[in-house]
Amino acid sequence: MKSSEVREKFLKFFESKGHKLLPSAPLVPQDDPTLLWINAGMAPFKDYFNGSAIPPKRRVSTSQKCIRTNDIENVGKTARHHTFFEMLGNFSFGDYFKEDAINWAYEFLTEWMNFDPDKFWVSIYKDDDEAFEIWTKQVGFPKERIVRMDKDENFWEIGTGPCGPCSEIHYDRGVDYGCSDDCELGCDCDRYLEIWNLVFTQYNKTEDGEYLELPNKNIDTGMGLERIVSLLQDAPTNFETDLFMPMINYIADNADVKYGDSKETDMALKVIADHIRSISFAIADGALPSNEGRGYVVRRILRRAVRYAKVLGLEIPFLHTIVPIVVEVMGDHYSQLVDMEEQIKKIVKQEEIRFEETLEQGMDILEEVIAELKKKDAKVIPGDKVFTLYDTYGFPKELTEEIAGEQGYEIDHAGFEKSMEEQRNRARAARQDYDQGHSELELYKAIREELGQDDFVGYEEFEVETE
Ligand code: ATP
Ligand code: MG
Ligand code: MG
Ligand code: MG
Repeated sequence: MKSSEVREKFLKFFESKGHKLLPSAPLVPQDDPTLLWINAGMAPFKDYFNGSAIPPKRRVSTSQKCIRTNDIENVGKTARHHTFFEMLGNFSFGDYFKEDAINWAYEFLTEWMNFDPDKFWVSIYKDDDEAFEIWTKQVGFPKERIVRMDKDENFWEIGTGPCGPCSEIHYDRGVDYGCSDDCELGCDCDRYLEIWNLVFTQYNKTEDGEYLELPNKNIDTGMGLERIVSLLQDAPTNFETDLFMPMINYIADNADVKYGDSKETDMALKVIADHIRSISFAIADGALPSNEGRGYVVRRILRRAVRYAKVLGLEIPFLHTIVPIVVEVMGDHYSQLVDMEEQIKKIVKQEEIRFEETLEQGMDILEEVIAELKKKDAKVIPGDKVFTLYDTYGFPKELTEEIAGEQGYEIDHAGFEKSMEEQRNRARAARQDYDQGHSELELYKAIREELGQDDFVGYEEFEVETE
């Protein structure tokens, strides 16, 4: 079954259960300053869950674009993690609850996707007897394959407010996927693949730490499209699917390697294929590479992809040439990708060229530093060196950390921050000197104050030129 069909069937299934289908929200959160990226299907619906806004319908379903940077180092290492992925979800805002959520999830997987029910394992929150009863009595799921888990695994909460237990559905991929013959559900390896998380938002946690039953209980579920597709296409990892192979094959052809040749080149192919999706979607949704916040994440991901392209011996700029393939694979469902194709290519290419200019030099410097440390039997890259790599050679701190880590070295985070602060102070002082001789800047300053610093980009661009 093709990935586009899986997405479609999921939405159709929930439409048949009375859900309104909504398009994916943009990756850049709208009116939510607490969040850098939309990272789950429920994220755009926070206001519906806490009651501060009214949903178009009390049951909705989406395929939501997500970015998660916490998984960046897992990409290519595990079978199942991406920086960009799609989360299929069904949501109830005070409408149906646990019973329907569980029954429908099972119905979709076994009747619409035809999975072998014997492969499933279910986890529930340890005190959630209600979920246990529904799974065993209504679904008829064998209790031997239901595992009760602790709060940190199967209870969803962030600080105070709406929260609740969850039940996760896993697929046993067999011992060949396990880290050992007897590894169990909850293990970090790829054997028991977590596919679907059903969250039952039934409490309101108060400031005093009390859990009060919510009068209107909610459902929030999320299933990774790439994961369920890997199962349906009998792929050993998410990558050997129609979502990634067109990119992987194209990169491999250009690098003159074959997918499957070696662990090292496979890792590079997977990372690049993953990262170019994130970058393309992020830019299509309005993020641009920069040195701050969201833009810094885009830059970081892009530069990490450039480094892996180097591992494959590819000539930079190269990444921008993969963009049309991303558009080909994903454009049918995400039309803004099609509309933005040329801009994405241009921006990616520019950023690649920018980094390429200093990448080799930076790598040489890093190698020198590491050689010096080796002599001294030291293990930590000094903060000022990490800063120079960042400031002069465009190495995001995390990139230096990762390269160092591969060779068994750490970086001095505090020292890096200190150098960063010193740099800020120097820039501030230089700006004051400059201001004194340029009265027209008073005007810019006034405008900046009026608009609020963040909205006014003209002055910052002006600043760059004065440095
Ligand atoms: P994992 O334990 O595998 O890291 P998770 O528990 O962090 O996943 P949830 O927050 O429960 O994931 O998200 C719901 C679903 O979204 C997961 O069951 C999975 O199918 C999918 N998912 C989560 N993170 C990723 C990711 N980085 N890449 C691809 N799919 C993901
Ligand atoms: Mg996770
Ligand atoms: Mg998990
Ligand atoms: Mg989970």
